[in-house]
Order: sequence, then structure tokens, then C-alpha cells
Amino acid sequence: SIVITGATGQLGRLVIEALLDRGVPAGGIVAAGRSIGKLADLAGHRVKVISMDYEDAASVARALKGASRILLISSSEVGQRVEQHRTVIEAARDEGVELLAYTSIANADTTGMKLAAEHQATESILVESGVPFALLRNSWYLENYTGQLSVTLAQGALAGSAGNGKVSAASRADYANAAAAVLLAEDQAGKVYELGGDESFTMNDLAAEITAVSGQTIIYKDLPVDDYIGLLTGVGVPESFAHILADSDLGIARGDLLVTGGDLRRLIGRQATSLSQAVRSAAARAL
Ligand code: NDP
Repeated sequence: SIVITGATGQLGRLVIEALLDRGVPAGGIVAAGRSIGKLADLAGHRVKVISMDYEDAASVARALKGASRILLISSSEVGQRVEQHRTVIEAARDEGVELLAYTSIANADTTGMKLAAEHQATESILVESGVPFALLRNSWYLENYTGQLSVTLAQGALAGSAGNGKVSAASRADYANAAAAVLLAEDQAGKVYELGGDESFTMNDLAAEITAVSGQTIIYKDLPVDDYIGLLTGVGVPESFAHILADSDLGIARGDLLVTGGDLRRLIGRQATSLSQAVRSAAARAL
């Protein structure tokens, strides 16, 4: 079977839908997650739901029993992730799986983003583990931007420290489809995919796109990094996460989330959802 960790999250749910769309037979998909109440609607739809907490190695081993392929969706608990991922990788090794695909970060070989450190450490653990693995090095989600649309419109402005850097953001659904394609393909061990949208954009491009779609002028305010951290903490973002977000913007300014090779498009077999399409559908919901 194919086990999806983090199945209760937004990406995990979309991966399961993509696998079902691709016709994985009954019993073929195991949705493993912590708050499995969120998966109640999936049970019985050819999907087996199993409880698994990365902090509980026995639960991880149980969830991976009988797995042939695994998607390790990186945990959302920043700071705890290396040990959590190690637990899954060791269980996968003990189970003798034929493939573990891991959702890493774009340009993991060269990126200087602080958020990347746990992904880089996880990639090293994978290399040392002997588990056959594929790397899905995802750039940003378009939803990181479009999910804030109503706030952006209320404020008339976007803020950040990304300068004129370009980000190759893509939709969660496209990353999920790419993950499903890798999980179902043969000969994936050793593959490294740099995944991102077909068009990269700057924060000024994003502001212009929102302006065009909404009819309301939105400007991008580029801030010194300390000012951006202050703005984020001022609206309630925890200090440590505000630092990570601001540091990620500095990464975007350097091009750390720029991906140009077309891996996403090839895996999903079509153009990735564009910024313009994503802003339009978010606006249709928000306006
Ligand atoms: P979500 O926050 O929606 O999902 C995170 C998942 O991790 C949830 O299923 C959550 O379970 C699970 N999780 C966290 N801690 C544990 C634990 N101790 N044991 C078991 N499961 C746990 O994130 P997305 O689905 O949107 O994104 C997937 C991952 O991608 C994120 O976790 C993060 O690593 C990364 N990410 C990437 C971004 C990008 O722009 N590329 C942006 C944001 C995150 P539960 O539902 O029980 O909480």
C-alpha cells in the first residue's frame, strides 16, 4: 500500500484525492495522521485511515506496517521536525519499503533559508538511511499569498522583505498531483525534483495582479527586515515564526525559491496553475 503521512493536513488531503483520481485500487491508500477525526469522510472510500503521531514511534511503525511506498509530508512543527522525520525514516527502513518520497524545500542544495535547515537535515538522514527515496523539493504555495487576500484588500497593501526577488509559487493541488505521480511511477528511487510554478513573480507582480483582478489598487511595501518582523509580531505572529517568515523573504530576494527546470509541469502533464488563475479563484471566494 501507499502510506501518506500528514494526511490530515491540507497537502495530504489533496494527495489522497489525486491518488483516488488516478484510480488506486481499494485498500491501496493508507491515510496516516494525528487528528484523524479530520479524515472521517475518507474512511471507506478506498482509503484506510490510521492514527499516527510522529512523537510516538510505535504509532509510526504501526501505520507503516505493510507499506510499499510512503509519502513523508514534512511536519508543521518547526523545530521538532528533524527527529520526527527520523522516526518515520527509521520505521520505513525497518519495513523495507521500496520508496519514500519526502516533501523538501526548493534548491535544498544551495538555499540559505533558515526554514530549509530541517529539510536539509532530513535529506541527509535519508541518504544515510539506505531507504530508497525521491525528493519533492517544493517552492512556496500560491496559497501562502492568496490565502491572505481579504486581509490584503482590507489593508490596500502587501508588506514583506523580498525586494525584487522572484518566487516560483505553485498551488498545493499541483504539488499534490506531482507527489501522486511520483508515488505511482516506477524507478523513482534517487530522483530529485525541483518543483515550482511555470511563472515566477515578484511581490510587485503579485500586487499588480491583485490590483487587476480586484479593481482596487494594492501596493507592495518592501520593508527592512526588522520592520517586517515588527509588523508581523504586531499582528500576533509569534516572535520566532516572524523571524522565520522574514528570513524566508530574504531568501526569496536571493532567489532561493526560484525554480526554472519545469519538473512540476512534466510530472503533472500540464501547465501549473498560474498566479493569475490563483488570484482570480481566491477573489471569487473572497469578494
Ligand atoms: P498543514 O499545516 O495543513 O499540515 C501539516 C500536517 O502535519 C498535518 O497533517 C499535521 O497533523 C501534521 N503533523 C504535525 N505534527 C504532527 C505530529 N506530531 N504527528 C503527526 N502529524 C503531525 O500543512 P500543509 O499540508 O499545507 O503543508 C504540508 C507541509 O509543507 C507542512 O507541514 C510544512 O512542513 C510544509 N509547508 C510548506 C509551505 C510551502 O509554501 N511550501 C508552507 C507551509 C508549510 P494534524 O492535522 O494532526 O495537526
